[in-house]
Amino acid sequence: MNIPHQKDLLNQLTPGTKVIVVPHRNPDGDALGSCLGLAGVLRKTGCIVDVISPNAGPYFLNWMPGFNDLLIYEEQTQACMSLIESAQVIFTLDFNDLSRTGIMGDQLSKSKAYMAMIDHHESPADYAQYMYTDTAMSSTCEMVFHFVQQAQLGQHIDRDIAQCLYTGLVTDTGSFKFSHTTPTTHRVAASLIESGAPNQQIHELIFDQNKPSKLALLGLALHKMEVIRSCKTAILHLSQDDLDLHDHQKGDTEGIVNYGLSLEGIVLSVIFIEHKHEGLIKISFRSQGSFSVNDLARKHFEGGGHRNAAGGKSTESLEKTIERFKSILLSTEELCGTN
Ligand code: 5GP
Ligand code: MN
Repeated sequence: MNIPHQKDLLNQLTPGTKVIVVPHRNPDGDALGSCLGLAGVLRKTGCIVDVISPNAGPYFLNWMPGFNDLLIYEEQTQACMSLIESAQVIFTLDFNDLSRTGIMGDQLSKSKAYMAMIDHHESPADYAQYMYTDTAMSSTCEMVFHFVQQAQLGQHIDRDIAQCLYTGLVTDTGSFKFSHTTPTTHRVAASLIESGAPNQQIHELIFDQNKPSKLALLGLALHKMEVIRSCKTAILHLSQDDLDLHDHQKGDTEGIVNYGLSLEGIVLSVIFIEHKHEGLIKISFRSQGSFSVNDLARKHFEGGGHRNAAGGKSTESLEKTIERFKSILLSTEELCGTN
C-alpha cells in the first residue's frame, strides 16, 4: 500500500471542520460509495460533512445509506455554492480532474479549501494538496478503506459505512472478477462484511432491482450490436429515440457495454449513447488485456479512465461519431493488424 503521508491533511480535520466530499458527474457505485463511506467516518470524528454530487445518481443505488441526503449541485446550486465557499477541506473521490464535475468544476477550482484527492484513474491533474492516487487499486472504495485504516479511524466503520464501501468494491470490480481484484481486495471485502455489510443483499439491491426499461434497452442494444471480427471489436449504440421508446431512466444503460466483451474473441467493446438534450454522444469503452481504452478515449474522444474501462464523448451526430470510431479502429494495428 502506498498511502502518502496523512499528517498535514489530518491536522486540518479537527472537530467542527467544514468538509465537502465530491464524486464525479454521473456518479456510479464506487463514486457514491466512497463519498458516503468517507463522509460517515469523518462525521464520527466531529467534522461537519456534506456530500455534494454534481448531478443526481442512478435509481438503482437509491437504497445506499445517505443517498437521500446527497446535495445535487446542478439542482440546488445556490445552497451548494455557499457550502463550497465556506468549506475548509474538500475531498474529491473517484476522479482526478475537476472537469469531471461539469459546471461545478469552475467553483471547485476557485476554492481556497485544502483539496484532497483519492482516486484510481490514470494521469491525475494537479489541483490537490493531498493526493492518494493508485491505478493498481480495484476501486476508490478500497482506497478509502486503506486511507481510513492508515489514519487509525477504522473503528468508525459501522454497518452503513461498510455497506457503502462494499458497494463500490462490487461495482468497480464487476463482482470481484476484473483484473485489479487482488487478495487484498478480498480481504477488504471480508473486513467490510465483518463490520456488518449485508453482502448478499447488496448484490441483490444492485443487480436484481432492474426496471423493465433497463432490460428492454439491453435487448435492443444487443439486437443491433455490430461485431467487427477482424478487429476483435463489438460496437453497440442507442439513439435518443431508442431511449424514449423504452422510457429510459438514468442508470438503465450502465453495464450494457460489458456484454460485447463477453463474446468469444472480442477484446474491445464500445457503446455510443445519444443524449440529445445535452447535445452529446456519451461513449463507454471496455477492453480485455493490453489494449488501452484510456489512451483511445483520451486521444480521440475527450475522455479517459482506466486501461480496460474508459469513457468519452462526442458532439458530432451518432452516425458520424460511429463512422469516425470505425475509421480510427481500422487504422489500429494492435487490434486489426494480425488475424
Ligand atoms: P463508464 O464507461 O462506466 O462511464 O466509465 C468507465 C471509466 O471511465 C470510469 O472509471 C469512469 O470514471 C471513467 N470515465 C468515464 N467517462 C470519462 C470521461 O469523460 N473522462 C475521463 N477522464 N474518465 C471517464
Ligand atoms: Mn472507481
